[in-house]
Amino acid sequence: MTAHYVPENLPEHIRHYIGGAPADSVSGETFEVLDPVTNKPYMTASAGKAEDIDLAVAAAKEAFDHGPWPKMLPRQRARILNKIADLVESRDKQLAELETFDTGLPIKQALGQAQRAAENFRFFADLIVAQADDTYKVPGKQVNYVNRKPVGVAGLITPWNTPFMLESWKLAPALASGCTVVLKPAEFTPLSASLWADIFREAGVPDGVFNLVNGLGEEAGDALVKHPDVRLISFTGETTTGETIFRNCAPGLKGMSMELGGKSPAVVFADADFEAALDSTLFGVFSLNGERCTAGSRILVERSIYEEFCTRYAERARNIVVGDPHDPATEVGALVHPEHFDKVMSYIEIGKTEGKLLAGGGRPEGLDTGNYVAPTVFADVKPDARIFQEEIFGPVVAIAPFDTDEEALELANNVKYGLAAYVWTADLTRAHNFAQNIDAGMVWLNSHNVRDLRTPFGGVKASGLGHEGGYRSIDFYTEQQAVHITLGDVHTARFGAGKDK
Ligand code: NAD
Repeated sequence: MTAHYVPENLPEHIRHYIGGAPADSVSGETFEVLDPVTNKPYMTASAGKAEDIDLAVAAAKEAFDHGPWPKMLPRQRARILNKIADLVESRDKQLAELETFDTGLPIKQALGQAQRAAENFRFFADLIVAQADDTYKVPGKQVNYVNRKPVGVAGLITPWNTPFMLESWKLAPALASGCTVVLKPAEFTPLSASLWADIFREAGVPDGVFNLVNGLGEEAGDALVKHPDVRLISFTGETTTGETIFRNCAPGLKGMSMELGGKSPAVVFADADFEAALDSTLFGVFSLNGERCTAGSRILVERSIYEEFCTRYAERARNIVVGDPHDPATEVGALVHPEHFDKVMSYIEIGKTEGKLLAGGGRPEGLDTGNYVAPTVFADVKPDARIFQEEIFGPVVAIAPFDTDEEALELANNVKYGLAAYVWTADLTRAHNFAQNIDAGMVWLNSHNVRDLRTPFGGVKASGLGHEGGYRSIDFYTEQQAVHITLGDVHTARFGAGKDK
């Protein structure tokens, strides 16, 4: 293994960004951020509380009420969004290095995520310009049209997995729509978010349009959700957090979009392209360290190929290269934080009592410190097992056999989540039937995780509420006001005109 790489010029401390300027917390408090390879603190971040959120929301509201951003033409905002995309792209290697250092993601995968962040800005720049608002001719020389208005101050709350990319997935449509924002990044991984301020300033985003407050979820996040001047919350994170936020959005009826947890099934039929299904189901759960919301972490395999599939799957899992996230050869890096590492390890111990351990089961050999977990495969897992039902969010997979299509569908749907599903079969009728009946917001048939950004992204059941992606994101960040106008000839029923009628 190569020596642990530490990027040059790491900051010792990062601050909030409010009204176009860096800011410490009013309380002066900070929290420590850990390097997931050593678990040593490498920097501090300002710990935001309600009073810091108040300042950030006030700056965002001032920029919304009196600044140029919401009033700009879509193409003017699009020009700035495209500059943001260029700046992200020109810094993709730096961004990937910082993201890798902060999250433990393998460097190659972090680079792909940085490039996707640039793509998100380009995509929403194009979309906002292309959007044609609806105009309708109605009888009696009347016209109706739809007036889109940015909703106002948007609160964006993001998780620690692929943080920079997931932030861009909210920032780009919110800004494209003309909203002003307060971003609260995850406390485990605030490093890459600290680059947004420079990027936005350089691209020409006016002061106050983008604000960032670091801090704990229960403090900064909670205050953002409850702030009366925040009109909507876009949240990505755990289902239980989503439920709390849902309750806290009720006063004032804030808009909400919730991208939550998952326990997605990958269903492999005997007639499938075996090698493609094997490759894809390995990638589906072990890429991004298994810290992927759409991970296919339950693999259901038709019984006639079950033994062979499990054997080959475990062989490949044992060969996955686990190591320093900065090493380009690394396929699985270090999990984000010791708390998360302990959670994943405890699920592995539970799994040993619930299934047959085929690969992994603890730390990889030779990696005695840091948050390293060997890719872990459990077979013969029963549907009521905790490792079948609960999101582990690490490099751990549960495999179970099935005999019939009906049983496969029942197993697939037998969890509280419904984010993604993957189906591998040569029979397209069966594949489409599965798509019709499976409880999932997104279904990949003989495919995995490749998608056009215009399609809806989101889950059903406990995996989310509302969909983002394409115009759905723009709908979320805008009010659609219907305007009805008469062109000269006011045609009424002449109520009250009496005998003159
Ligand atoms: P989390 O819910 O613990 O935290 C997410 C964010 O919410 C953080 O910024 C946190 O500080 C904040 N937060 C926590 N409590 C809060 C509160 N009471 N009020 C307001 N904000 C609060 O989630 P996590 O552990 O950071 O992320 C992992 C989870 O995210 C997994 O469940 C994963 O499946 C999910 N996720 C879902 C998607 C999706 O698109 N569906 C994408 C990525 C991750």
